[in-house]
Amino acid sequence: MRAKTGQDHVLYRMQDIWKSFRTSSVEVHALRGVTADLPAGEFVVLLGASGSGKSTLLNILGGLDTATSGQAWFQGQELTAMSERELTRYRRDHVGFVFQFYNLVPSLTARENVALVTEISRDPMPPEEALERVGLGYRMDHFPAEMSGGEQQRVAIARAIAKRPEVLLCDEPTGALDSKTGVQVLEALEQINAELGTSTIVITHNAGIQAMAHRVVQLADGNISGIRENATRIDPSQIVW
Ligand code: ADP
Ligand code: MG
Repeated sequence: MRAKTGQDHVLYRMQDIWKSFRTSSVEVHALRGVTADLPAGEFVVLLGASGSGKSTLLNILGGLDTATSGQAWFQGQELTAMSERELTRYRRDHVGFVFQFYNLVPSLTARENVALVTEISRDPMPPEEALERVGLGYRMDHFPAEMSGGEQQRVAIARAIAKRPEVLLCDEPTGALDSKTGVQVLEALEQINAELGTSTIVITHNAGIQAMAHRVVQLADGNISGIRENATRIDPSQIVW
């Protein structure tokens, strides 16, 4: 990637991003001119109804998909100008992903699932440290089938942070969890943001989660309908689910 341009305090800059999907009969405009700056280091909640474009936007920011038009920059480097190869490198070196379903390898222990990533990273965290950070030090040698959904999701988070990404992109990480295990997952994410300074964006349609964020980005019909900063933040345990 090219040299940085002195905008390091801005994590993501988005300028008039459009994304259209053409199916056999109709064209769907999933994003309609999204423009925003997100500062580095924050815990951001991306809130919006189903179909409002949250996943589409996160996938573009994560280099998993490309915009139809408009521009996006990560730390001053233009994602929308990168080749497939550059996007692959960007994802590998800078981004940790967490999805609704954990995608762990069933035949590997928690430690081995995390080690799969650390073996191919430049400056990885030991798998044990990553698992300690999500409160699963005592579960290292358990297989996914021996763990609850919330524990499996925390293994997935440990896997995502073990390569020390600058940014953690989470698409409905609590979407398949009950409130108790969902809170544990959010506590793990909050702690990682606070202790490691990893910029974190969490997609949810659960409005209760916004109160734990530094910043809330509201999406409606493919565009940002509001951005606000929380003057005070609540602890995940106080979230009304
Ligand atoms: P959200 O994550 O907020 O639920 P999405 O970003 O997944 O919303 O989708 C936004 C809109 O774009 C929806 O109308 C959805 O049906 C459409 N969409 C998303 N991905 C595709 C795709 N691959 N092909 C066609 N339409 C899509
Ligand atoms: Mg989605």
